[in-house]
Amino acid sequence: MRIDPEKVKNHQSSFPAMYFASFYLLILLPEMMPVKTKFHMQTNETYLDEAFEEAFHSMRNNVGGPFGAVVVLNGKVIGKGGNRVSSENDPTAHAEIVAIRDACRNIENFDLTGAVLYATCEPCPMCLSAIYWANIKSVYYCSTRHDADSIGFKDNDIYEELNLLPENRKIAFRHITHPLAAGLFREWTEKNDKIPY
Ligand SMILES: [Zn+2]
Repeated sequence: MRIDPEKVKNHQSSFPAMYFASFYLLILLPEMMPVKTKFHMQTNETYLDEAFEEAFHSMRNNVGGPFGAVVVLNGKVIGKGGNRVSSENDPTAHAEIVAIRDACRNIENFDLTGAVLYATCEPCPMCLSAIYWANIKSVYYCSTRHDADSIGFKDNDIYEELNLLPENRKIAFRHITHPLAAGLFREWTEKNDKIPY
């Protein structure tokens, strides 16, 4: 076999560069990466791990019920929270609401278009509405409204109320008129400096 001396020379001269490139990729680059992304792909399961961490924290520290949620945008967790109803005396402090508020605060925007919400339990109708208001694109959840019902939470009851006509619901909703109602909406329609959402 004939060995081309020129090829041998090229191979020899590129060897240190290749060696350094390998060293950079295997040793230096991972060290320079943020801890969270180092050798660690975030998956649906790992996002849910974080949601469950929030839920266990809330429950075990008597912050609230056994619920947690995280909001993810472009693969990054931008907000999270556990249920805080009993510690904050706030019936609306469900995990999903807490996580949405945290995400909005962090990105300084009320619009979470493109975000995904991970919840330890199927969101109740209030949280479902908040998810729509925030323009979240999809939701992953574990326990269902029926599982929540079996441990004493009324998510399913509220879903069933939504199927009834307003006058047939447990809480009566009555439509009445007021002279300022039309003017209020007209002023909003004509307002030049409004921030629509
Ligand atoms: Zn809820």
